[in-house]
Amino acid sequence: IKKIAILTSGGDAPGMNACIRAAYLAARNEGIEVIGYQHGYNGLLKQDFVEFEHRDIRNLIQRGGTVLYSARCEKFTKEEHRIKAAANLDEAGIDGLIVIGGNGSFKGAELLQDIWDKPVIGVPGTIDNDIAGTDYTIGYHTAIQTAVESIDKVRDTADAFERIFIVDVMGREAGFIALNSAIAGGADHVVLPETFESAADELVRILDKLDQRRKNHANSSHIIVITENLWPGGLNILCDSLQTETGIDTRILTLGHVQRGGSPVWQDRILASKLGAFAVEMVINDERGRMAGIRHRYPESVPLGTSREDRKPLNHYSMSMLDKITLLG
Ligand code: ATP
Repeated sequence: IKKIAILTSGGDAPGMNACIRAAYLAARNEGIEVIGYQHGYNGLLKQDFVEFEHRDIRNLIQRGGTVLYSARCEKFTKEEHRIKAAANLDEAGIDGLIVIGGNGSFKGAELLQDIWDKPVIGVPGTIDNDIAGTDYTIGYHTAIQTAVESIDKVRDTADAFERIFIVDVMGREAGFIALNSAIAGGADHVVLPETFESAADELVRILDKLDQRRKNHANSSHIIVITENLWPGGLNILCDSLQTETGIDTRILTLGHVQRGGSPVWQDRILASKLGAFAVEMVINDERGRMAGIRHRYPESVPLGTSREDRKPLNHYSMSMLDKITLLG
């Protein structure tokens, strides 16, 4: 193996740079050259790459975002373009490709592997942690940290004005960020896609909890964490209902894209470093169509398809625990 390529695709996540750095160093230490395709799969189609050198990866471990830029690439869903991508990889003399991204990026990687006869390896990079076959994804821990810091801050003002705050966090279809930022931020209630049945049922649950907290003379501010895009008709509807039913001033805090940014926390740096180094080993071992996942703190090779096979479950203990430790406020 003489040369490998790396790209970042789909939603960016803190720690992608740390992964690029680790893969670069692991490869260079084996005498392997490294190039980086820019703008996700777009770079692969346009032969748009950078040749990494040592100075490119200096001070990279702590930087948010991705120096290779991320992007969506609609064209890559068509076979003719993937054939072009495979030809470009051959033309550039690439012996293995590492794709850092989410489920969509892995689907593209799998389809590329079907037509390219060198290793394509996926590394899970998304703040949502919604990839099966790995305990964690790169960026997830940092996103929780960002959400928790925001909850801490908003509680100060919620307390001062005795308000209800609805904190809207990312996660796509998964409640990992919501559940864990709710626990770590000491929130009073969390609304998760995994347990959400209907707005009416959930509203009853929230009002019940607020009622019990007030009966127990809990603090008069209340923090409710909810996964993005979950409440039918939008959060204003929930906000109005809570305000009307409780008579308490209710506000919405939407965290949005700040959750994707910032310097990665140590958990993401270590995860990214392990997976970046391991992905290079997988290329050297000529593994095909596989993902570098983490299982009980050790890297593990799993088929790329595993990432989408099942819905990755939330931690059941964490889910039941939140009620036990928030009822009294
Ligand atoms: P995140 O979940 O963090 O947004 P993701 O990798 O799932 O990351 P997507 O936008 O779903 O993000 O996919 C990223 C890119 O992967 C797409 O723009 C496209 O280039 C490629 N891709 C996605 N789905 C397919 C598919 N079915 N076939 C080929 N390529 C695909």
